[in-house]
Amino acid sequence: MKPGADLIRRALREGRKVLLEPEAKELVSLYGIDVTRVAVARSEDEAVRLAGEIGYPVVLKIVSPDVLHKSDVGGVAVGLECEDEVREAYRRILSNVRSRVPSARVEGILVQEFAPKGVEVIIGLMRDPQFGPTVMFGLGGIFVEIFKDVSFRIAPLRDLDAEEMMREIRSFPLLTGYRGAEPVDLEALKSALIRVGQVGLDHPEVSEMDLNPVMAYPKGLKVVDARVILSPSGGEAR
Ligand code: ADP
Ligand code: MG
Repeated sequence: MKPGADLIRRALREGRKVLLEPEAKELVSLYGIDVTRVAVARSEDEAVRLAGEIGYPVVLKIVSPDVLHKSDVGGVAVGLECEDEVREAYRRILSNVRSRVPSARVEGILVQEFAPKGVEVIIGLMRDPQFGPTVMFGLGGIFVEIFKDVSFRIAPLRDLDAEEMMREIRSFPLLTGYRGAEPVDLEALKSALIRVGQVGLDHPEVSEMDLNPVMAYPKGLKVVDARVILSPSGGEAR
């Protein structure tokens, strides 16, 4: 059985079309891609306990199938340093979501490890009707949203494909030590791109995957946010 097949099947059986952040991170981590440690809290006290286990600073986020863009609704609190900040953020996130998306089903609050600042990149997976699973790469924020500075390759990606798709974006120099910054770990990025392609090949039910952002570091990387869209038919065309 392919890694993560059971968690995809469970979600589909429950009639869900998305894997929320904790499940999506579990899936990619089964493919050897580093993710922030996460745990779902169902109460304020539990959030505090989990924060203690994970270690401060932590990040809190809403977990809801009805909230795919969490920060847009005040559903993310970053860099919480102590118990009081966790309690305050827990209440604030719930009240933000209740007032902005009153109908949202809330499954809990995700407590996670804080990832230090790196170069924010985006790795995506989509299904091309003709060519099948296709991997996307770009730099986070304005580079993708405004400049559309992204590259694509059809899975399976060979080493060279992954290498080229990094080099061909215009913002590539930001990865190699622009203005005295330390270069990021291109090998780690390369293997993440290849592995994301493999997820697409292994799981026809995954119609889209969005790792946004991934923090790229001089050594290694960390997936900070992840989302997967499922299609029950597991069809090629979508
Ligand atoms: P959204 O659903 O709005 O995309 P994200 O999980 O991507 O929510 O969080 C929004 C932003 O908060 C991210 O782009 C990132 O800059 C920051 N962030 C989120 N999680 C972490 C984390 N674990 N460590 C550090 N920064 C984070
Ligand atoms: Mg995000």
